[in-house]
Amino acid sequence: MDFKNIIIIWYNQNRRDLPWRNTENPYYIWIAEVILQQTRVAQGLGYYNRFISTFPTIKDLANADIDKVMKVWQGLGYYTRARNLHGAAKQIMAEYNGLLPTSYQELLKIKGLGPYSAGAIASFAFKLAVPAIDGNVYRVLSRIFGVFASPETSAGKKEFYTLTMELIDKRHPDTFNQALLDFGAMQCVPRSPNCLACPFNDICYAYRNNLINQLPLKGKRIATRDRFLNYIIIRYKDSTFIQKREAGDIWTSLYEFPLIETANQVEIDLLIIEPLWSEFFGKERLKILHSSQPIKHILSHQTLYTKFIIVEIDKPTYYLKTNYLKIPIPNIQDYSIPKVIDNFLAAEPSEKYLRNKGRSEK
Ligand code: SF4
Repeated sequence: MDFKNIIIIWYNQNRRDLPWRNTENPYYIWIAEVILQQTRVAQGLGYYNRFISTFPTIKDLANADIDKVMKVWQGLGYYTRARNLHGAAKQIMAEYNGLLPTSYQELLKIKGLGPYSAGAIASFAFKLAVPAIDGNVYRVLSRIFGVFASPETSAGKKEFYTLTMELIDKRHPDTFNQALLDFGAMQCVPRSPNCLACPFNDICYAYRNNLINQLPLKGKRIATRDRFLNYIIIRYKDSTFIQKREAGDIWTSLYEFPLIETANQVEIDLLIIEPLWSEFFGKERLKILHSSQPIKHILSHQTLYTKFIIVEIDKPTYYLKTNYLKIPIPNIQDYSIPKVIDNFLAAEPSEKYLRNKGRSEK
């Protein structure tokens, strides 16, 4: 029996029943695939259902305000995906008459669609025999066939693409690709796979040569950097100040409190001599209600150490009034904000200091 038959038999016995598996609507498949990149299925399901019900068609998504898209996406991370989806929907309306193109090469021209997503849409929705290779597939193929090329290099990517094209079931590319993806996600998992129960254990190169922990080969890792973010939550009567983050950094288009980024972890006595602190407060009177411990938050290539300082003022400076949006404190929940801020706002003691009641408790 050949590879494709074995993996499809395994899939028929073990497949996950996911809502986007029961549709051939390319838009739904596209949304699901984008959400599932870097997101576990259990977490992605709720987001998928919410996204589809809020924006049922490409046209709805294209016409939506970007803030609304970001709000539905809030908490999923990797926010470029949401912005690209929105931009791509506009592109599809303008250039493709509101319909996703039906060829792999045309799909690659859509904003934010890389080879994996284009392959997934082309094979799942349009039944084209093209690979959909993600990290799971790299792992499965490198282990079973003993591929020592790194999937992080272009030569390696090409080698995996060629191998998958040789293996793919031309009559059922959708089932074949889904089977490979599920097999990697459920059976040939990164750590301690249950090889004794695997239908490929008699031919698997990594299993037979005790190389499971060495494959797939890792390429050069991108260095991570540490960043120190000090958010100033300003309480002015029952309002606070926020601004939208600009492009070119993490969390583009999300909203945040006034921020002082420092080169190292600093305590409040050093923070108040930062030039931005003077811009925020000038010589106006203020009261520091709370200064949090740093909260560690890991992104793909950055580790953030975020502190929150809650400050009460009697009068906003001109700088604050002109550069920031003044909103009633509870309205912050109407804006898309980074998860680390959302988590802090939901927790004590920010609740205590930001609620009206908090004032009298002090
Ligand atoms: S034998 Fe083990 S390493 Fe090889 S494909 Fe199966 S689960 Fe993966």
